[in-house]
Amino acid sequence: MMTPRCLVRGSLNNDEYLHGQTIFSTKYERRAGGKGANQAVAIAKAGGHVDLLGAVGEDGIWLIQYLQAIGVNTDNVSVVETHTGRAMIQVADDGENSIILYPGANFYSLPLPRALDARYTHLLLQNEVLFSSTQTYLRLSKSSNPPIVSIFNPSPMPSKEQIAHIPWISLDWLIVNQGEATTLCEIFTEESILEDTPIPEIITKLCNSPGFYRSTNIICTLGAKGVFARTPHGTIALPAASLQGPVIDTTGAGDCFTGFFVAGLMEHSVSKASTTLSLPELEAILRTSVEASAICVQRRGTIESIPTRNELPQ
Ligand code: ADP
Repeated sequence: MMTPRCLVRGSLNNDEYLHGQTIFSTKYERRAGGKGANQAVAIAKAGGHVDLLGAVGEDGIWLIQYLQAIGVNTDNVSVVETHTGRAMIQVADDGENSIILYPGANFYSLPLPRALDARYTHLLLQNEVLFSSTQTYLRLSKSSNPPIVSIFNPSPMPSKEQIAHIPWISLDWLIVNQGEATTLCEIFTEESILEDTPIPEIITKLCNSPGFYRSTNIICTLGAKGVFARTPHGTIALPAASLQGPVIDTTGAGDCFTGFFVAGLMEHSVSKASTTLSLPELEAILRTSVEASAICVQRRGTIESIPTRNELPQ
């Protein structure tokens, strides 16, 4: 039996936080970020073996060292001749965020492989790197022998044209939040979705729309309302885990959820001969993921707020 190992082909960012209202910021902070990095850290903290494949500029060498210290393998993070990707995050006094993404090295054209390394059992993708790279890696996951389990979190949302060019048939798990599920459904069905449409209805419409591959499993996170999952075997709705204290910062909750979810899939693949998950097995993985993300929202920060596996209720 192979040791499960996940490849995250994703982004690394210097996250720059400017706190305050309009003109003068009252505080400046620089933190590690990028969805690729955040989700890779969550897999490592959940106990999974994970390699991040991406690029930074010289101003991002500290990120490589930081991720390596947390347990993410960064041998495949290149240092290229441009600036590291950057997210400028404006945090208003009421806690609302607005984010400007500068892709920098995340949009650097790294050479594309002909096949994925046979050590990988899982592939996790987001949408903060070149779209052509995401497409290629997704395709390659299914031409591997045995096939690699693929997970895609389409965030930020790809354009309508890009969505039409995603090899959906190669995708095993789609992870979206409520907004992303609604937008995807609108793009696939070419209908607008009314605001109070229940999420199971949106997901069913998405699944049944031409162009979407019906066997793809869908996980839809619902913020404080928990998570809804749809697989060909049935659906699961789980509430969010109960909180010990107030919500402090929800940034990164989705990335924490995704990393713990992928680590759960990886763990399942060692313990079971079959890669198919039963609904109770899926529910157990979702439960761990909502527990981890509930801890995350009660702490400040993104990567910093992701708990380790042993901080979760046993
Ligand atoms: P994203 O950050 O991608 O928009 P969500 O807001 O859906 O993702 O959050 C991801 C997960 O984090 C949710 O499924 C839930 O388990 C957890 N979560 C988010 N907000 C809260 C909250 N206020 N209370 C408890 N859990 C939360």
